[in-house]
Amino acid sequence: MSAIADNLQAVQARIAKAAAAAGRSPESVRLLAVSKTWPLASVIEAADAGQRAFGENYVQEGIDKIAAISGRNLEWHFIGPLQSNKSRPVAERFDWVHSIDRLKIAERLSAQRPAYLPPLQVCVQVNVSGEASKSGCAPDDTLALCRAVAALPGLQLRGLMAIPELSDDPAAQRAPFRQVREIFDHIRAAGLPLDTLSMGMSHDLEAAVAEGATIVRIGTAIFGERNYR
Ligand SMILES: *Cc1c(COP(=O)(O)O)cnc(C)c1O
Repeated sequence: MSAIADNLQAVQARIAKAAAAAGRSPESVRLLAVSKTWPLASVIEAADAGQRAFGENYVQEGIDKIAAISGRNLEWHFIGPLQSNKSRPVAERFDWVHSIDRLKIAERLSAQRPAYLPPLQVCVQVNVSGEASKSGCAPDDTLALCRAVAALPGLQLRGLMAIPELSDDPAAQRAPFRQVREIFDHIRAAGLPLDTLSMGMSHDLEAAVAEGATIVRIGTAIFGERNYR
C-alpha cells in the first residue's frame, strides 16, 4: 500500500474508535481529505485508495485540480475564506462550500450556481470562543444567517462548520465543539433541517466526533505536513 493509503486507513480507524466511544456508528462520520497545497498526484493516490471527498482552501488551486481530474466522480468541498470576486468559479465547480460567513457571499453563490447543477451544498461557518480563524459568523447571528441562506434557491443549507483554536488538552478541545453543536441543536429546534456538523481536524478529530461531528476535515494525518511556499 502507498503511504497515503496507509494513512487513510489509520484515520478511518481513529474515526471508528472515536465513534464507538461516543456510541455512534462509524458511518455517521464522513472523512473529507484536505488536499490543499498537495499536488494532483496525491489526490489521485488517495482516490485510488477509495477516498471520494476532497477539501480545498484556495480557489485557483482547487479548480485546477478539479479540471485535471474530472471524470473520476470525486466530490469537491471549498473550505477556505472566500472573497466575493472569486465566488463564481466556486459556484460553478465545487459541490460544497463550508465557509459561508455572511449573506452577501451566499447570495452571490446562489445566483452564480448553474441551473443544470444540483444546488450547492453549504455550511455556515460559526466563530466560537477561541476561534483560530477570524472568519465565521458570530454565534448570536447564526440562526438569522441560516434562515436567510436556507431561502436561497441555488444553495442547500446542510449545517455548520467551525475551526476552533489548537489545543493539546482534550477537555479544552471539546468545549468549542460542544458550543457549535448546541447552536446546531438550537437551529434545528427552530425548524431548519440541518444534518451536517463539519468540525475536527488532524489533531482534534476525536474531540469533534465525541461532540457530534458528521464531517471531519483531515489534511496532515493523510498527506503529511504541509509546506507553504
Ligand atoms: C487545512 C485545513 C484543514 C486540515 O487541517 P489538518 O490539521 O492538516 O488536518 C481542515 N479545515 C480547514 C478549514 C483547513 O483550512
